[in-house]
Amino acid sequence: MMMLVTGGAGYIGSVATEELIKAGYDVVVYDNLTQGHRQAVHPQAVLVEAHLADRGALNSVFAKHDIQAVMHFAAHSVVSFSMHDPLLFIRENVGHAINLLEAMAAHDVKRFILSSTANVYGDPERIPIREEDGLAPGSPYGESKLMIERILHWCEVRYGLRYASLRYFNAAGASEAYGEHHDPETHLIPLLLKVALGQREHLDIYGSDYPTRDGTCVRDYIHLIDLAQAHILALEALDEGSRIYNLGNGEGFTVQEVVTTAREVTGHPIPARIAPRRSGDPATLVASSEKIRRELGWEARSPDLREIIESAWRWQQAHPEGYAE
Ligand code: UDP
Repeated sequence: MMMLVTGGAGYIGSVATEELIKAGYDVVVYDNLTQGHRQAVHPQAVLVEAHLADRGALNSVFAKHDIQAVMHFAAHSVVSFSMHDPLLFIRENVGHAINLLEAMAAHDVKRFILSSTANVYGDPERIPIREEDGLAPGSPYGESKLMIERILHWCEVRYGLRYASLRYFNAAGASEAYGEHHDPETHLIPLLLKVALGQREHLDIYGSDYPTRDGTCVRDYIHLIDLAQAHILALEALDEGSRIYNLGNGEGFTVQEVVTTAREVTGHPIPARIAPRRSGDPATLVASSEKIRRELGWEARSPDLREIIESAWRWQQAHPEGYAE
């Protein structure tokens, strides 16, 4: 089966492409390489270097390749940036998804996997969070993803689209070949590793007065390869119906616990200091992934925070400057 992977040169899309190719799929990566990296594109994938705003380019991809399903990763994704520029996030994330869905409808492509987010729940009513819990996005980023989820519903009604919305908690870790290189980097684990590599002086811990066990935010870190495999399981189940799943490990770690584990893994003291809260951060986000376990038999193989950080550390040491291009 031929897949289109938007954002296939990005952090999560590159590993999803790698897992798809391992599973025997053919992959066309659609990425404009503004946030993605040429080196992160699997050598067996076809790279189409184009923007999702370019509807002509999108249509020609579907005209040229016999694409049967789409995994849509390409998006603006940094929550704190979305708090500064809500209209950009909503206009581009939603607008680009609509362009993609229109091209799919025009070419009768009926399978879609959305990279969605735990941010659709905002500050959750209960922990662990279940898919049926209240939706109140915590940021324009989360709002943009929830809007796309709703649009998918109407595409199902009108075009018979089958979709899976996968609400990620904190994607982390690396495969042997592909890892995390954002510019600028804003995520906790790669920033800790940059301190360990001597590229930054210290880590700022954003807030120590949250109502959690040590006052720092609790997050549910899920290994990138587990995440990628959940996409393939969801894709293979689409013929039985559209679906929405949380993807996390069901176990939360505080920022302080992540710092301690990173110190243990790297053997570096990683200085950290308390800084003000970052806007848009809920105190605790922990998933119930019971639904995808029950329905698709998905299991996180690497639930262990240490293993996740070890995989990221191996990749960062092998690529201290990240991807060259
Ligand atoms: N965080 C932090 N310092 C940093 C980056 C992140 O304290 O330099 C915290 C952040 O407030 C959040 C957690 O680490 O509670 C995970 O943040 P990240 O940006 O990695 O992912 P997010 O939860 O925003 O998706």
